[in-house]
Order: sequence, then structure tokens, then C-alpha cells
Amino acid sequence: PAVSSLTLTTARAEIGPLRQKLREWGQQYYEADQPTVPDDVYDQQYRRLVEIEERFPELVSPDSPTQQVGGAAASEFTKVQHRIPLLSLGDVFSVDELHGFIERLQQAYPADQEFNCELKIDGLSISLRYEAGRLVQGSTRGNGLIGEDITANIMTIPSIPHQLTRPIDIEVRGECYMGKAAFLKLNERRETEGQPTFANPRNAAAGSLRQLDPQVTASRHLSTFMYNVADYHDVKATTQSELLAELQELGFAINPDYQVASQLATIDAYIAKNQQRRDELAYGIDGIVIKTNSLALQTEIGHTVKVPKWAIAFKFPPEEAHVKLEAIEWTI
Ligand code: NAD
Repeated sequence: PAVSSLTLTTARAEIGPLRQKLREWGQQYYEADQPTVPDDVYDQQYRRLVEIEERFPELVSPDSPTQQVGGAAASEFTKVQHRIPLLSLGDVFSVDELHGFIERLQQAYPADQEFNCELKIDGLSISLRYEAGRLVQGSTRGNGLIGEDITANIMTIPSIPHQLTRPIDIEVRGECYMGKAAFLKLNERRETEGQPTFANPRNAAAGSLRQLDPQVTASRHLSTFMYNVADYHDVKATTQSELLAELQELGFAINPDYQVASQLATIDAYIAKNQQRRDELAYGIDGIVIKTNSLALQTEIGHTVKVPKWAIAFKFPPEEAHVKLEAIEWTI
């Protein structure tokens, strides 16, 4: 039934099993790195939960998947408490919704707002801590507050500097991913060896990073693009685009395809261009992220318990091959 036709009673009856289903899918995806349903199936159900909670705010509870980031840290790893939480991103699935989000921000904060457009890399969040310029800890996002200590694994990834170009204390955040070529090779090898293959590069990256033996991680050809820092006081940059340049100067790999935009038309063109060249890229992207460019304004706008309010992910529709695969899976 349409969400608009639900009553409080029918909504309450639906919401429990719906949350439970999302929790189980989330555990398989975030904790076991083996999703049991395609992402768009998860996204549709998640979206329904959001709509029900928007219509009946009295049903929102802190244990809802809409109020929680990611999954629990695996017990095999030492836990890392994130001093500043690692958040998720709000998402939209149409240009109209995206325009609505941007226009609401522009109305609420009328001073001329610039946005930084970035590719949404299909990997997993990592956080890297440096002391006096030296890499001391790497961790996963986990549930945003508590992640997994994967320092030894992080040390094997070639794009992550062990020493920065300046001797600063800083916590840098970004995406760890597996390139398309490495992903295909890995799955081929696993198939020959009779091991289960990974559903997609994101899960392959997560499975490769969350390994107890760093040599396994080292053999998986992981890469990174860093795009954020935990504390803006630690950088000279005053905007997101300057921050990316500063991270590059410090020695990090950053994704070069970012663009500052202040007009909706420019943002639309960025989306269209990158959606078109998606297949040509050596790594997977599942959308575009639009961020308020001023770091001071980001801080002023703030965040919810789950997502920053100054950024949004525009998700691409699922790819052809995936749609077919899903159709087969769902018609059986
Ligand atoms: P997300 O992956 O959709 O978006 C947030 C993440 O985007 C950030 O944490 C960051 O890691 C990443 N990111 C990539 N490029 C970025 C950039 N340039 N700037 C900032 N962040 C960037 O959110 P999520 O909460 O990690 O996961 C939700 C998604 O996971 C859903 O869209 C869903 O499709 C999928 N999921 C699937 C299943 C399943 O069963 N198939 C289950 C749970 C979740």
C-alpha cells in the first residue's frame, strides 16, 4: 500500500518487520561483506521506511536503521573509538529531489553558496590518523562511532603515505576501493579456486581490508581517494575544494574529477558528464556527491545523527548488467 494510505496502526505493524529486514540485509552487507539482495532493492525498502517515519514521526526510534550508520565492528578486530563520528550520506535518486535539496540549502543560507561536486566512489570509508606526520592508525567506519583497527592492513596499500610532507597531527578520511581490473582478476581467481566470488567491487574492497592477515590485503590491489579530515582546525583550507588540494600536497591520492559549481545547471552538467563516462573509469562510482564548499558553512549547517546536512549523494540508477541479474534473481 502507498505510504499515504497508511494509518498509525498499519504503519506501526509494518515498521517492525521492515526494520528487521533492513537490519539483516545491513548485517550481511556491512559486517559479512556478502550482500543478500541488490543495492537498489535495499534502497527501495530503506526509502519506504524513511517515508513512513516522515509521515509518522512518533514512530521514529533510535534503533531504526534510519538513525544508525553502517554495521558493528567485527569482534576479531581491536575496536577504535572515533573521536569525531564518521557519518553516512543522505541520498536522492532524481534530479528534481537534488534540486529541492540544493534550493532548500540556498534558501536557509542565502549568502552566495558554492558547491563542490565529487564522484561517489564505490568503496568503503576509512579513517587514517597521523601523529607528527607519521601514520599511526587506520580504521574502518564501523557504526560511525566504533570502527575496526586495520592499521597493519592499511600499511600495505600503496596510495596511503606512511609519512606526510608536513609533520602535523591529523585524521584524514576517505574511500578505500578496488579498481575494476583488480576486481575482475580477483573474482576469476576465486572462481578457479572454488571460493565464493564477491558481489561487487565495494564488497571485494571491504572483504579485502577487513582481513586478519595483512598479506592477504596486500595481494588485493586496493587503492584510496581521500576527501575529508575529522577536524577542520588541522588544515589551512577554507573550502572543500582547497581541502582536496591540501590533502594532495600532504601526499594523499585524491580524485581529480571534482568541480566547484554555484548554479544548478553546472551541477546537472557535471552529473550528466560523469554518468556518461562511468563505464570508462578504472573504478566504480555509484553516484555524485554535492557538498557545500565552505568548510565554515559546513560546520554551521551541521549534521543529523546519521548524515551531514551540507552534503547529498545523487545515486545513479543501477547498471544494465545489474538490472538483468536482479531480474533473474527476483523472477526465480
Ligand atoms: P553510502 O555508501 O550510500 O554513502 C555514504 C558513503 O559514501 C560515505 O560513508 C563514504 O564512504 C562514501 N563516499 C564515496 N565517495 C565519497 C565522496 N566523494 N565524499 C563523501 N563520501 C563519499 O552510505 P552507507 O550508509 O555506507 O550505505 C548505504 C548504501 O549501502 C545504500 O545505498 C545501499 O545501497 C547499500 N547497502 C546495501 C545493502 C544490501 O543488502 N545490498 C545493505 C545495506 C546497505
